[in-house]
Amino acid sequence: MPERRIDLHAHSAVSDGTETPAELVAAALATGLDTVALTDHDTTAGWREAFDAAAGTGLTVVPGMELSTSQGEGSVHVLGYLFDPADAALLAETERIRTSRVTRAERIVARIAADYDISWEEVLAQAGEGETIGRPHIADALVARGVIPDRTTAFHTMLHRNGPYYERYYAPTPAEGVGLIRRAGGVAVLAHPATAARVSTLDRDSIRELAEAGLFGLEVEHRDNTEQGKTLLREYAREFGLVITGSSDYHGTGKPNRLGEHTTAPEVLETILAAGTGSAPFRG
Ligand code: AMP
Ligand code: FE
Ligand code: FE
Ligand code: ZN
Repeated sequence: MPERRIDLHAHSAVSDGTETPAELVAAALATGLDTVALTDHDTTAGWREAFDAAAGTGLTVVPGMELSTSQGEGSVHVLGYLFDPADAALLAETERIRTSRVTRAERIVARIAADYDISWEEVLAQAGEGETIGRPHIADALVARGVIPDRTTAFHTMLHRNGPYYERYYAPTPAEGVGLIRRAGGVAVLAHPATAARVSTLDRDSIRELAEAGLFGLEVEHRDNTEQGKTLLREYAREFGLVITGSSDYHGTGKPNRLGEHTTAPEVLETILAAGTGSAPFRG
């Protein structure tokens, strides 16, 4: 019996991935995954389509979301799984975040428009109705205009958080985010906690505080975590009793990350499934 392949972090075009939820499900099957979590930024709008696409295929879809939070100047992403998508507090907060993302993107585009020929309408055209807007959509509009060759170049230059056009958006603190997911019956896992930008702010006390707020796990196996950071994360996981996950953070063609490039152990998935009470995994 071959080992089960479990990838708990993937995006669709409902946020900043490039494939529809149904296309993502097809890609997961083509890659030979047994389980994939749909974790669009600040929205659950893709769940239904992913479930429908997985029906009868044998693929398990874990419903999830990547919740935006912020700590000081930094952005922290919290993966939530198996929460109640109708939870009023969580819905209100994701609505607030997404609204702030729109006005923030408008401000970024207004700044860029002072230097380049680009309009808000062109950016909106890159993000479909109801999608969670982000810098990737601004990047796509700039690519369409021929200003830059691809998203990655945009993030390394014009759209960099220390770049000239950057603007922030509203997000709750990581502890608030973990609490919201928990109170909605969900399981919270800190996404890519040890990226190069984050490793200096990754301290034992913040992880302890999040563990006390109900954090369940740390996404250790992720291409953006540094080796040094992963070693620290494994120590924190042992110390605070957190599980360790591995995932791709697939965004279709929007990022080089390939589905299944990192995976989560079956026994860890079982503990996540046992802990999540707000919604059920879809077993296709
Ligand atoms: P924002 O949510 O607007 O702050 O933009 C950050 C999002 O952009 C992250 O969630 C990433 O998925 C995406 N992103 C970051 N770096 C890159 C990159 N180099 N190429 C494509 N997408 C990226
Ligand atoms: Fe993203
Ligand atoms: Fe993220
Ligand atoms: Zn992600």
